[in-house]
Amino acid sequence: MSRLFARQALLPEGWVKDVLIEWDADGSITALLPGAAENARAGAETVAYALPGMINLHSHSFQRALGGRTEKAGDSKDSFWTWRDLMYRFARNITPEHIEAISAQLYSECLRHGYTSMCEFHYVQRAQDGAMYARPAETAERVIGAARLAGIGVTMLPVLYSYSGFGEMALKPEQQRFKTDAQDVLRIIEALEPLRDAQTEVGVAPHSLRAASVGQIQEVLATLPKARPVHIHIAEQMAEVQQSINWSGRRPVQWLLENVGVDPRWCLIHATHLTEDEVSGIARSGAVAGLCPTTEANLGDGLFPLESFLAQGGVFGIGSDSHVSQSAVEELRWLEYGQRLQHQRRNIAVSDTQRNVADFLWQGALRGGAQAAGRPVGALAVGLRADIVVLDDAHPNMFGLTLDEVLGSFVFNGNDNLVKDVMVGGQWVVRNQQHVAQQAIAARFKQTLAELREFR
Ligand SMILES: [Zn+2]
Repeated sequence: MSRLFARQALLPEGWVKDVLIEWDADGSITALLPGAAENARAGAETVAYALPGMINLHSHSFQRALGGRTEKAGDSKDSFWTWRDLMYRFARNITPEHIEAISAQLYSECLRHGYTSMCEFHYVQRAQDGAMYARPAETAERVIGAARLAGIGVTMLPVLYSYSGFGEMALKPEQQRFKTDAQDVLRIIEALEPLRDAQTEVGVAPHSLRAASVGQIQEVLATLPKARPVHIHIAEQMAEVQQSINWSGRRPVQWLLENVGVDPRWCLIHATHLTEDEVSGIARSGAVAGLCPTTEANLGDGLFPLESFLAQGGVFGIGSDSHVSQSAVEELRWLEYGQRLQHQRRNIAVSDTQRNVADFLWQGALRGGAQAAGRPVGALAVGLRADIVVLDDAHPNMFGLTLDEVLGSFVFNGNDNLVKDVMVGGQWVVRNQQHVAQQAIAARFKQTLAELREFR
């Protein structure tokens, strides 16, 4: 039995003082004892502020290597679609070894910024020549290997990717590495089954309604165990909404809600361009809205109608998608700031019972993230993983705060990283802001970028 004593711990009901947290050899919390007496906590390490680690519900880990390289204007107007061409060029030459090295770097950074779980929307699944690897889950296994090396929890979501546009349009040459049909995806999922454990779950991700048909989605879901998460990109761009209408007379979310049974196992990534009916439909379905504010800003996607969605009890979580940011704080800050700029008001992500924006955002994103991950995470609670973020109480931003100001300072004050230590499944993976394998992981990442530069 291992233990940690938190002078303040963020439990589902809010901050609680003097909590002794205990977990078993498997890394699951076995007891939370508020007001623990001096003798009960003897020998346990003491920290000032302990909160549950955040879930990053949307990641394409290899895109971490593109960071900062796509910010030059082209000859014509740049958009999501011109960015995507650059990403395709990059994806053409990447090897499984590169994917593993880049993913490990990303995960070590995500851990240092407060994430303890990732959901990997994984679509580079074929070799450079477009053939399946001898091991059908080769690249997915590499990503899971990187998660294990870095010590982060992972939900692997092999992507179903058959078409280049609505109406089953043939894939383009530059999309051949992503090509999978329903049977390919089921084969990959089957190959990953032995890797499932307390830190690792496997679900599925139909790429989008552009890239997967309803028939294929239903074929996969008929075989996938019922509790597994299902993620999909949807309504990210106005052009996508228009293509959907041209094809079916329906908007993407409207089509999905009408033709596929969307329920709480679903996570709708982006869902940016919605009518009021679609907002209500998602909220009613219990599906998670997977929001990626820094990437959505970087790609010029648009703003999710958060206020209306929250008013209808909608469930949300955050992801870093293309990884222009590796910080949970930055995602949450952008999520709220986008709404403030749009509505010209302040303090929008709140509820009747939770008036602190940062507390509402952190707890809300934990709940939605855990649901989207399909893993026992998202709170400090008995039976869930011992995934704990410790804040740096020696930082000046933490001086003189009342408890209801702690997360406000963490999320909204400045750019210093206030995440000091991070534990995943009862193991410390970040100590004093350093990842435990940081140097070796970074050296491999550096070598990988040098190799990939050859292809540019
Ligand atoms: Zn994405």
